[in-house]
Amino acid sequence: MFVYLDHAATTPVCAEATQAALEEMTAAFGNPSARHAFGQQAAQRLEERRAVVAEALGCTPEEVFFTSCGTEGDNWAIQAAVEHGRRRGRHIITTVIEHSAVLEPIKALEGKGWSVTRLKPNRQGRISPEDLRAALREDTVLVSMMLVNNELGTLQPVAECARIVKAYAPEILFHTDAVQGFLKVPFTVKELGVDLLTVSGHKIRAPKGIGVQYIRSGLKLSPLLRGGGQERGLRPGTEPTAQIAALSAACRLWMDHGAEYRAHMESLKAYALEQLPARVEGLEIVTPGDAPHICSVSLPGYPSEMLVRALSDQGICVSSGSACHKGKPSHVFAALGLPKRTAMGVLRISFGPTSTRDEVDALADALSAIRSSRVGA
Ligand code: PLP
Repeated sequence: MFVYLDHAATTPVCAEATQAALEEMTAAFGNPSARHAFGQQAAQRLEERRAVVAEALGCTPEEVFFTSCGTEGDNWAIQAAVEHGRRRGRHIITTVIEHSAVLEPIKALEGKGWSVTRLKPNRQGRISPEDLRAALREDTVLVSMMLVNNELGTLQPVAECARIVKAYAPEILFHTDAVQGFLKVPFTVKELGVDLLTVSGHKIRAPKGIGVQYIRSGLKLSPLLRGGGQERGLRPGTEPTAQIAALSAACRLWMDHGAEYRAHMESLKAYALEQLPARVEGLEIVTPGDAPHICSVSLPGYPSEMLVRALSDQGICVSSGSACHKGKPSHVFAALGLPKRTAMGVLRISFGPTSTRDEVDALADALSAIRSSRVGA
């Protein structure tokens, strides 16, 4: 039996997305910029797809820009936001638990003289809106705070934080990395009140190589790439129409079945959080996660990398997240202040609409067998 409980890393592409991509690559492969009828048909299809993605985000099609992935979107949002606020100031607020797609571009800006405040989470992995309020300065130009943490599954109070920021100074731009939250937790960009929001297709059963950047209407930003006039001049490069078709099909599927998918993932996660500690001696729950698809557990004394490899040998895929790098716990688990033995034994378990109870049972059995056959470190 093949067990895949790593849906936060990437997801199996759904049949609807595969079919939509195949059709686009074969029957409707025109370049949307071409002036002939075949190109114009591709352009029309592209706009139909944009409208579906806009519906999923709760925004207008003009606010949707297709990118290559979440990493590109995060980098673009951060670069463009600081460029936008350059005359006002050089202070950025973010959190210590962001994905490296946010941490790294901000670190690069810090190296060029920007001042950065990094908010720390509490033991549950949540950022306090009061800490954000206290960090705001006259020269703050950008706040970047993720919606759902990719290792913990915790939901950050983005809407509340965006309200605090806008009440302090409406010119400060608010970006959220919603790569793990999009369609997993219900939201619209208007409810969140953010200026910029980043999405990645491969987390929602579309293929890799497609992302979406939401840019609030009226906000004039500069492009990351320079080239042709695609995406209203803001994201040049011939549009990846097959991936866009697939993304739109995956969005449609989540819009039609999201409530059922979320309930299914939530109940599987509850089952895992009940079964794993009961069946695997010494196993601890690190965070139950607020999002329905992610939780983290630990087998203290058993290094994550060893566990991931031993489980993989038995056909079971879970993740250590970035749980340990060269003998150190990840920045996220380090930020929680967990004991080192717990932090080093963390496993991230993540679910999708196709996950089953049998997969959770197989994971519990395999972990229990590893636990009894090896002495912990
Ligand atoms: N942000 C978060 C929270 C993620 O989990 C990921 C991917 O794991 C990314 C950004 C990067 O997205 P992509 O893989 O599409 O570049």
